[in-house]
Amino acid sequence: EPEERPSFRAVLRELTEMMMKKSLSPPVPSTYQKRYLKKIMDLGEGHFGKVTLYKYDPTNDDTGELVAVKVLKQESGCVAEGLMKEIEILKSLDHINIVKYKGCCTEPGRTEVQLIMEYLPMGSLRDYLPKTKVSVCQCLMYAQQICQGMDYLHSKRYVHRDLAARNVLVENNSLVKIGDFGLTKHIPEGEIYYRVREDGDSPVFWYAIECLKESKFSFASDVWSFGVTLYEILTRCDNRQSPPTKFYEMMGEAQGQITTMIIIDLLMKNMRLPCPRDCPHEVRLLMEQCWHKDQAQRPSFENLIVRFEAIRR
Ligand code: ADP
Ligand code: MG
Repeated sequence: EPEERPSFRAVLRELTEMMMKKSLSPPVPSTYQKRYLKKIMDLGEGHFGKVTLYKYDPTNDDTGELVAVKVLKQESGCVAEGLMKEIEILKSLDHINIVKYKGCCTEPGRTEVQLIMEYLPMGSLRDYLPKTKVSVCQCLMYAQQICQGMDYLHSKRYVHRDLAARNVLVENNSLVKIGDFGLTKHIPEGEIYYRVREDGDSPVFWYAIECLKESKFSFASDVWSFGVTLYEILTRCDNRQSPPTKFYEMMGEAQGQITTMIIIDLLMKNMRLPCPRDCPHEVRLLMEQCWHKDQAQRPSFENLIVRFEAIRR
């Protein structure tokens, strides 16, 4: 019987072979070299960043992979720090409904930083929905996938703070992923809020009432923004029904500098976005719960997943 056991020498040989094989396969580059990035086209831009499609082709024979590369619109030391934060957060996340981090690209001696991520060919939900026929059932599937990504993000104690259709990317007609973690913040264990001091570019029409009033961001304020995103999905991101358009309609003439004050006023009077045309009744109720004045009354993403599963059955 002892003869049946492999000798130490045999084990050692096998292990060495395994290690050789591993080192022979090309390493996954996490630092990309800028000179091998060939520009294909612009993909889009938001408040802070600009995203471009490149082919990373170090062998220069067109066999390279397609990647989406994000840079900041204005280069400045302090903003670049923001992108480094985004890179660190994205690096630490691994979920099917969150865009995959691939690496970053920095040049020695320069402040410019590039975030390299997987390329999602259909762009954001804002690009995709207006030009595609999508059933209510599919809308609810996208909504549930967003909840799954958000539930994971919250389990890591991050608040997203910028959940909106423009920041959800489409892989294909049955898979969406959350992208853009530019405003994402970590909430330390035991605390429930993140408070902002600077509030320059705020997506006010997606913000929960407590964010507008007190700049307090929490897991529950992400749920509010999800409600607005759900509204956008069910209106198929039609510009004539967009959250800003609808809020401006509710506001009437008064707008400008005091927009935030007027929105707070509308929300305090319990005015909300209208019910999208083909939105099922139980989904409308769910949306309204996400927009509850009292944070404690809003559902969690965990709860939303269960509810979507039941509705879609
Ligand atoms: P910002 O922080 O400025 O809002 P985003 O990260 O939201 O920048 O990117 C801006 C736009 O670029 C998105 O709305 C989307 O249309 C497009 N985009 C971003 N990432 C990708 C990607 N990985 N694949 C395809 N398109 C993308
Ligand atoms: Mg964005």
